[in-house]
Amino acid sequence: MTRRKLIAGNWKMNGLTGHLDEVRAISEGSRDGAIDIDILLCPPATLIRPISDMLSEGGHVQVGGQNCHKAEKGAHTGEVSAEMLRDAGATHVILGHSERRADHGEGNDTVRDKLAAAHRAGLVAVVCIGETLAQREAGETLTVLGDQLAGSLHDDVSPSDTVIAYEPVWAIGTGKTASPDDVAEVHKHLRQRLGERFGEERGQGFRLLYGGSVQPGNAAALMAVADVDGALVGGASLKAQDFLAICEAARNCR
Ligand code: PEP
Repeated sequence: MTRRKLIAGNWKMNGLTGHLDEVRAISEGSRDGAIDIDILLCPPATLIRPISDMLSEGGHVQVGGQNCHKAEKGAHTGEVSAEMLRDAGATHVILGHSERRADHGEGNDTVRDKLAAAHRAGLVAVVCIGETLAQREAGETLTVLGDQLAGSLHDDVSPSDTVIAYEPVWAIGTGKTASPDDVAEVHKHLRQRLGERFGEERGQGFRLLYGGSVQPGNAAALMAVADVDGALVGGASLKAQDFLAICEAARNCR
């Protein structure tokens, strides 16, 4: 099965309106290439509306949030609902990022509730899973990831509304990257688990991204790994030149 590659940028808590020039550069620089791959930028919530307005002027890049609350509205000071993201122009939302799992105690149940909320609002969710260094060193990687995958997804997910991002916690923002062999082992396992749960055809359809210090210099090797259908990019997505180079690497190994 051919799965279209997706390169998603996670700006985390970075970006002011002055940063919109980078978005313009990404949009203009990807105009031709984006026909072959999907490109997504997930800025802080404050920039979703201006970026979505800018991108609707003719670009191919989509915009997403980095988190949402499970409720549609209500007394949840400081939270943003999936419907609000959608209203601001988002088409996607990242859920279960390891920084949210660690900083806000989000477990698989919470992620699953948020996933249902994202789908209720019509957003495509990028669900993150990943092992810590201690878990990898203890030989628990595949078990931990299998549990996170099983617990974070509800039964009705489909490849058109859900993307999985494998992000080893020890590789995020550290400059350390999982080796292509390690990524291949994990993605093969995840693909197998998806097939067991959702059936072969649906399981084959889900896009599996790799994330963790993806840079222009290592993107080609990672994108060439079997069952890697794109990347979730943190630091390197803040610079148009680097992000576009990663998009180009993905495009070249469609
Ligand atoms: C991330 O934030 O999801 C991420 C992978 O960050 P970085 O690329 O900076 O490691």
